[in-house]
Amino acid sequence: LVRLRARLSRSQNSLGKGLLTLLSREHLDEDTWEEIEDTLLTADVGVAPTQELVDRLRERVKVLGTRTPEGLRELLREELLTLIGTDADRSVHTGNGLGKDGQEIPGVVMVVGVNGTGKTTTTGKLARVLVADGKSVVLGAADTFRAAAADQLQTWGERVGARTVRGPEGGDPASIAFDAVKEGIAETADVVLIDTAGRLHTKTGLMDELGKVKRVVEKHGPVGEVLLVLDATTGQNGLVQARVFAEVVDITGVVLTKLDGTAKGGIIVAVQRELGVPVKLVGLGEGADDLAPFEPEAFVDALIG
Ligand code: GDP
Repeated sequence: LVRLRARLSRSQNSLGKGLLTLLSREHLDEDTWEEIEDTLLTADVGVAPTQELVDRLRERVKVLGTRTPEGLRELLREELLTLIGTDADRSVHTGNGLGKDGQEIPGVVMVVGVNGTGKTTTTGKLARVLVADGKSVVLGAADTFRAAAADQLQTWGERVGARTVRGPEGGDPASIAFDAVKEGIAETADVVLIDTAGRLHTKTGLMDELGKVKRVVEKHGPVGEVLLVLDATTGQNGLVQARVFAEVVDITGVVLTKLDGTAKGGIIVAVQRELGVPVKLVGLGEGADDLAPFEPEAFVDALIG
């Protein structure tokens, strides 16, 4: 966790430092507030949240007359936390569900998102976290669109100790997902993680496919969590993608990947606004241990150093 924090602060604190430096200027004139706005916009915070944050900061600096570096730092910390939100439920729901006949079935987590955002990697990392937590996990390789995805997932499965259920290349994703949950029930596994395909160019196809995967899995019992994987480096594009996915399936949480490769952590604020669901996990590298729960306090501390 310490290592993850260090990595987070390396990638993010230019944003926080920049804001603090601006706030600490002797004269907080219009130009400076504009620069603060630009800094937030450049970090992908989004227009409305940026305006809110700046308005609140202006008001509070004026009312409180805060000028000391510690005072400004605390003010910024508080306002960033207000913007990100500290009371959302950010746990990934992997608890058992109840099947059709009232029997316990594994917790089911669907992982969705555009190809290349880090879906398969995130599924593997999440499996590792769960197995380390003493849970038995079954993986469903329902990304039959990308040829290597099932192999990649199976490699993760072998590495972390989770069975992978896969179908023929180009097979029906919904039937693989169905089989994965069936296998999970047969094995009395704790959690079934389903990796899905994310081709965006045919929205109707995507809609049919993801909706169908979910409906078919629900023949066994409820899907506890639908995690949308978003690449933090894609900025506004990522938000457009998020919107499309939210239209086709009810997203319950966001995983923001590749946060190690960008200082644009503001996307966390923007995507939560856009979808109305919390960021639950962040990806901070390609390695097996580089997935962390998203903790607003730790994030903001890393941000402002
Ligand atoms: P998918 O097509 O969405 O399943 O994407 P993959 O899981 O294959 O990931 C695409 C690439 O992104 C791979 O090279 C991953 O190693 C890389 N990747 C995934 N998550 C992260 C992350 O948090 N940080 C970094 N730097 N790379 C990541």
